[in-house]
Amino acid sequence: WSADTIAVVTGANRGIGFEIVHQLAFHGVTVILTSRDAAVGEEAAKVLQEGGLNVFFHQLDIVDPSSIKVFSEWLQQNYGGLDILVNNAGVNFNHGSVNCLEYSEKVIFTNYFGTKNIIQAMIPLMRPSTSGARIVNVSSRLGRLNGRRNRIGDLSLRHQLEDVDSLSEELIDRTVTTFLDQVKDGTWASGGWPQTHTDYSMSKLAVNAYTRLMAKVLSERPEGHKIYINCYCPGWVKTAMTGWAGHTSPEEGADTGVWLALLPDQQIVTGKFFSERREVSF
Ligand code: NDP
Repeated sequence: WSADTIAVVTGANRGIGFEIVHQLAFHGVTVILTSRDAAVGEEAAKVLQEGGLNVFFHQLDIVDPSSIKVFSEWLQQNYGGLDILVNNAGVNFNHGSVNCLEYSEKVIFTNYFGTKNIIQAMIPLMRPSTSGARIVNVSSRLGRLNGRRNRIGDLSLRHQLEDVDSLSEELIDRTVTTFLDQVKDGTWASGGWPQTHTDYSMSKLAVNAYTRLMAKVLSERPEGHKIYINCYCPGWVKTAMTGWAGHTSPEEGADTGVWLALLPDQQIVTGKFFSERREVSF
């Protein structure tokens, strides 16, 4: 990896995203630190630049189509595209088992649809290479399909989401919109959705399913144009999102994401879910 390698990290002004930028840049990669708020993003990039790292800032709000368009054009013009994309940006307002429409919509629109927006905008900009371009999605164990306590009750839906052959974008979108419709009409509690952090769990479940789907779609690209996509859970990390509760530091939370982004060619995988550098089941 060298300064010619271009990585983009979303939601990187703080927390795990900031640390992912830090560690990627430490490995010699040129990193574009993005955040929705320009002032805090510039400040965060400055801290790393002052440490001698190749980090540059650009504004990017993953739910704002005009921001995505401006960013994509800037990236193309200034860097000719990118090699690594880390989808880290996310929100979570739900610290129990309550869902209100305002928060559930924000969580699903940001964590799932926003991540999807960026993946779709960046794929055409991913530069051809023998190592293959890489996408890493920061997800959560809360979104596991077969988690022991926190899973979808509808067995048939679970099986459809589990079987990569029956998986489709339409199915994933329909699943999260059905959940949101039930939050809207007040029936979600009996809908068989995950029991805790329901909206957040659903958003990450959708990210995981989309990772597997895209891995299948992208695997059809010819040699030299390959894109590998994986997701991982950073653990329970002390950041603003958890109110600084948790077991691990943002540095540790960033580790598996950086490891996945920089995997040597011989070890490359796609469509997998990781935790602490080990594969875990979806
Ligand atoms: P933070 O709240 O510290 O960071 C979240 C980042 O996402 C912030 O920079 C935030 O920006 C940004 N963001 C939110 N919405 C948008 C948007 N629309 N466009 C661009 N950026 C946005 O939390 P963490 O660092 O803990 O979370 C990082 C990722 O890790 C998330 O995807 C989270 O779900 C995941 N994760 C975290 C866990 C934990 O224990 N902390 C556990 C499992 C997964 P702003 O500062 O403007 O709000």
